Amino acid sequence: MTNPIYLDYQATTPVDKRVLDAMLPYFTDAFGNAASRSHAFGWKAEEAVDLSREQIASLINATAKEVVFTSGSTEAINLAMKGVGDMYGAKGKHMITSLAEHKAVLDTAKHLEKEGFEVTYLKPDATGKVTAEQVAEAIREDTILVSLMWANNEVGTINPIREIGAVCRERGVLFFTDATQAVGKIPVDVEADNIDMLCLSGHKVYGPKGVGCLYVRRRKPRVRLVAQMDGGGHERGMRSGTLNVPGIVGLGAACAVAEQDLEKDIAHANALRERFESKIFAALDYVEINGDENARLPGCSNLSFAYVEGESLIMGFKDLAVSSGSACTSASLEPSHVLQCMGVGDELAHSSIRFGFGRLTTEEDIDFAANQVIEAVKKLRELSPLYEMVQEGIDLSTIAWTGH
Ligand code: PLP
Repeated sequence: MTNPIYLDYQATTPVDKRVLDAMLPYFTDAFGNAASRSHAFGWKAEEAVDLSREQIASLINATAKEVVFTSGSTEAINLAMKGVGDMYGAKGKHMITSLAEHKAVLDTAKHLEKEGFEVTYLKPDATGKVTAEQVAEAIREDTILVSLMWANNEVGTINPIREIGAVCRERGVLFFTDATQAVGKIPVDVEADNIDMLCLSGHKVYGPKGVGCLYVRRRKPRVRLVAQMDGGGHERGMRSGTLNVPGIVGLGAACAVAEQDLEKDIAHANALRERFESKIFAALDYVEINGDENARLPGCSNLSFAYVEGESLIMGFKDLAVSSGSACTSASLEPSHVLQCMGVGDELAHSSIRFGFGRLTTEEDIDFAANQVIEAVKKLRELSPLYEMVQEGIDLSTIAWTGH
């Protein structure tokens, strides 16, 4: 059996060869503990960790001291939101986020609600976007944190982060952004974009899994957090635990490569998506793009195929590794909460697929994938009485699926 074609770059990315090469010595010869201050093994590990901090900081225009290593974005999100709640809870108990966030943010918000915080969940528009005006309206006297993602992992919509950051800065509210999908994919600048905290994750940027970091602003304003992990006081007391040196080296190298190749990567991913979508739209009708066509992550194409049965659709793409608009929860197939809050009907959400293109995707992959999609959708529609009725000009708007 050959592997399917990998079109799921928002789920994870392969480790870049340049990144792996940088990591390898730190598993074997240079295996020291970065906290060992008394010998060369420790110094070498610490030096490598320091370089990684510089590489990450350079990509997002931060300083090395503002980088706190974690096991990934989920942990960084927990540290940012709970850390702010614990530190500033006496000042106010209100936070703002959105319904389209990743579960790591939504579940952390739920946890904070149980601890007595009040959370406002902004509803995005039909493209998945939250505006600075919505944020301004939701900020109250007791608001201590705004937590909004930079780019959505399901539909790729890019929020107006700079404007949202400016509103937060003006109103004196801390701004945390989950930039897991944005860093390394689009330009990110914590100074120009008015960011106080930001998380990123190695495995989304051609680095290893299980490593990420939280950027924590040190000046104007200085952000203080209560640690969520007690121990040896690593990472300036914000995150205890022996550092994952090979992982951290990989994360730094991945950021350096991303900085160097950013324009090339963006052009490549955009060209592939353009090629893919133009083939699909030339051959199929009743296909909708989910997300903001004017502000979408390069390489992310979330499409809804009306008049096909969702589960059969994914089965039809047997040679493609893609992600569906339904999340498999124990027994039931739940439609994606992101598509739901954008107003996409359940039926259409079930027949939505996220295609993700990246560094290793080729034009041949795109052509193959587009052909398979077109063939599968056409075949399924042949079996669909609704599609037949639409073809005959019957208005289904009152009896069939509801779109946006
Ligand atoms: N936030 C977003 C937007 C994501 O896409 C992901 C990855 O699935 C996460 C957070 C969690 O990241 P990690 O896998 O590093 O915990």
